[in-house]
Amino acid sequence: MARLAQTAGLTDVQQEILSTVRDFVEKEVIPHAQALEHDDAYPTDIVEGMKEMGLFGLTIPEEYGGLGESLLTYALVVEEIARGWMSVSGVINTHFITAYMISRHGTEEQRRHFLPRMATGEVRGAFSMSEPDLGSDVAAIKTRARRDGDGYVIDGQKMWLTNGGTSNLVALLVRTDEGAEKPHENLTTFLVEKPEGYGEVAPGLVVPGKIAKMGYKGVDTTELVLDGHRVAADQILGGVPGRGFRHMMDGVEVGRVNVAARACGIAIRAFELAVAYAQQRKTFGKPIAEHQAVAFKLAEMATKVEAAHLMMVNAARLKDSGQRNDVEAGMAKLLASEYCAEVTQDAFRIHGGYGYSKEYEIERLMREAPFLLIGEGTSEIQKMIISRGLLREYRQRG
Ligand SMILES: Cc1cc2nc3c(=O)[nH]c(=O)nc-3n(C[C@H](O)[C@H](O)[C@H](O)COP(=O)(O)OP(=O)(O)OC[C@H]3O[C@@H](n4cnc5c(N)ncnc54)[C@H](O)[C@@H]3O)c2cc1C
Repeated sequence: MARLAQTAGLTDVQQEILSTVRDFVEKEVIPHAQALEHDDAYPTDIVEGMKEMGLFGLTIPEEYGGLGESLLTYALVVEEIARGWMSVSGVINTHFITAYMISRHGTEEQRRHFLPRMATGEVRGAFSMSEPDLGSDVAAIKTRARRDGDGYVIDGQKMWLTNGGTSNLVALLVRTDEGAEKPHENLTTFLVEKPEGYGEVAPGLVVPGKIAKMGYKGVDTTELVLDGHRVAADQILGGVPGRGFRHMMDGVEVGRVNVAARACGIAIRAFELAVAYAQQRKTFGKPIAEHQAVAFKLAEMATKVEAAHLMMVNAARLKDSGQRNDVEAGMAKLLASEYCAEVTQDAFRIHGGYGYSKEYEIERLMREAPFLLIGEGTSEIQKMIISRGLLREYRQRG
């Protein structure tokens, strides 16, 4: 058989990109991930390397200076990177979503203003929906922008901004009260430029320090406090207020494929660590891989890796073909993140006591995998999306 998680039908260009990224991950990410993660240190050199490879512009259209690659290429790159260290994929993901939203929904002026500088990594994107009181219930957002002369003034508090300190552009979802009956039609996305860093980085815009997390370290996750922060009307994504919810949901739909890809990357790595360890460690006179209970665990883990990879690839290809993929992306995210948690835990068990030691990589994966059950919508939210889609498709008539 071939190794796990192979993808049929890739172009020469896709294969070349993936082999370059795989090489980079082997040489520049895996050897440093453990130490950087334990120090909660930002992977500056790795990020510079990704800029040089053009990864910040991977999916940005060529006419705006990017490589114009598909969601599938992006997802497979993310899978490779997360196999090395999930936090590194976190550095590019909010950037990718923000660039995607500007490409798809921005005005031509916004595209020309942001995308060429996003392609080089000079402008780095974060996206912000969540607040201290809400994450799943996006339409209940409280942060508010009120009209003031020819611009808007924003007040409120945002929570959980991945790359909140290291980005200089935030796609910010706020309430603008358009008088619409449905709450989600009163939301607007603003493109807020800010300097990198922490503290009051612009008048009325505070990025408090990094939130301390159990895993997903190195990459910064922050709050954002807005107190009378002024923005211009032309900072509204797409130029028209009231469409922010739709923009963000489109963004998280591609984000879900990315989370599924990350889950695949971590699960692949967990399997690799387990299958290697199981052949070295001996108990009762033979390698533990020769005990059927362990061999069967490896078989189940590999089957889960393969299933998750195929669903992730299917969801990406569907979006690339121009079709809606809300159900398929939700299914891929649900299955890949749940399987990732299971595969990682099985790899941990196979390591016995050593899995609990900080010297072993599986310890880090055990702290990273749970985030995937939450980010870009929890498993329960995925089930809501999937079941709604199914009931729409299979509606009984008459
Ligand atoms: C490390 C990290 C990075 C993040 N980065 C970002 C970011 O960059 N940008 C951003 O906007 N957000 C980000 N988030 C926020 C993330 O998207 C939310 O945490 C997530 O959507 C869940 O929201 P919540 O935490 O408010 O949980 P809640 O919505 O309060 O949910 C709590 C529990 O209730 C369940 N639940 C809620 N509603 C229902 C329902 N109707 N039916 C059944 N069960 C339900 C949930 O599944 C969950 O188990 C990040 C979070 C973390 C931890």
